[in-house]
Amino acid sequence: MAYTISDDCISCGACAAECPVEAISEGDGKYVIDADKCLDCGACAGVCPVDAPKAD
Ligand code: SF4
Ligand code: SF4
Repeated sequence: MAYTISDDCISCGACAAECPVEAISEGDGKYVIDADKCLDCGACAGVCPVDAPKAD
């Protein structure tokens, strides 16, 4: 299980700063989550202005 970031992402970077395990990085047109690192904590979803991070 891991969070994923939808195409609604506006690449603001807020989620990457909150992630406790640095699982989030800037990708091509949106930010992306490394599923192998994600702990499902939900911190990224809590700070996202467009509700892009979704729990699978
Ligand atoms: Fe990082 Fe938590 Fe978001 Fe996973 S759910 S990407 S661990 S902030
Ligand atoms: Fe994208 Fe939301 Fe992360 Fe900002 S906080 S980079 S809009 S997923």
